[in-house]
Amino acid sequence: AADLAMFQVKENGRNNIFRYSERLEEAFSRKKVIGRQLRSAVDNGELEMHYQPILSASKLDIVKVEALLRWKSPTFGPVSPAEFIPLAEAGGSILGIGNWVLRKVCADLRSFKDQGIRLKAAVNISGLQLMQPGLPGQLSEALGDNGLTADSLELEITETMLMSDESIITSLADLRSMGFCISLDDFGTGFSSLSYLRTFPVDLIKIDRSFVAGIQPGASDDTLVRAIIELSHNLGLRVVSEGVELKEQFDLLCNLGSDELQGYFISRPLPAPSLVDFMMSYASAAATRE
Ligand code: C2E
Ligand code: MG
Ligand code: MG
Ligand code: MG
Repeated sequence: AADLAMFQVKENGRNNIFRYSERLEEAFSRKKVIGRQLRSAVDNGELEMHYQPILSASKLDIVKVEALLRWKSPTFGPVSPAEFIPLAEAGGSILGIGNWVLRKVCADLRSFKDQGIRLKAAVNISGLQLMQPGLPGQLSEALGDNGLTADSLELEITETMLMSDESIITSLADLRSMGFCISLDDFGTGFSSLSYLRTFPVDLIKIDRSFVAGIQPGASDDTLVRAIIELSHNLGLRVVSEGVELKEQFDLLCNLGSDELQGYFISRPLPAPSLVDFMMSYASAAATRE
């Protein structure tokens, strides 16, 4: 019986190793394919921008959208940016893609303006883009070509980026002096200590949606959100809450003083034409309310 048991363990072990390596290979080749395809994604017109409205809590106005990149792989179909952005960073294609994003967002803002819709856009910037000396020039060009100025864009960066390289702090300070607002994305998920907030050159804090998810009808845990909002305000920073999905979250975050709100409760990210429709009906609903 003992022998038999050992044999089974061995067999299972071998099977597990086999299944494991098979899965590893699968994942590895998907990554390789995606990494390769991203290098021609701009030229092949496979990229698209979606825009998620961000609501100002005091005026209940939509004055800003977050620009979120979408990519359809020729083999895998739509791939989440959470998956492909890190691969674009690893393969270096993020620089070309990032510049395409800046140009596309500015062109769309221009077209919204021409349709009577005044909006700012928050754009996610990768660490590699920030470390590249050409970024200020790319920003100026994308804005200038569309008759826009720095106050049309907000640049979203993450905590881990700030911790990784001292020169990033200098780049951010330079961008701020050009008139760009800097916001710290996914706040609370990185490794930064709260005391760093005082020294980072940022204007806004985006509370990560994992904290917002803690606010549930009944069993609510708002301790952290409350503390982040209070601390940010004491440091003179504005606060955006991400991932607002429920009315309870919306109400509580407004009461706690969150300056801006973003999430499915307000709207999902939308392609440009749908955003225009959304803004039009939002404006006419507001007019009826008055
Ligand atoms: P992020 O910057 O934190 O963007 C917010 C993410 O939360 C978006 O995911 C958005 O669709 C999602 N979201 C918004 N509201 C809700 C909600 O109420 N519930 C839930 N469950 N999710 C919500 P998305 O579009 O998949 O983007 C994922 C991440 O990919 C972004 O996180 C950002 O880090 C990165 N990313 C997206 N576009 C770009 C880009 O153009 N450049 C760079 N460098 N990164 C980008
Ligand atoms: Mg973001
Ligand atoms: Mg975020
Ligand atoms: Mg997030």
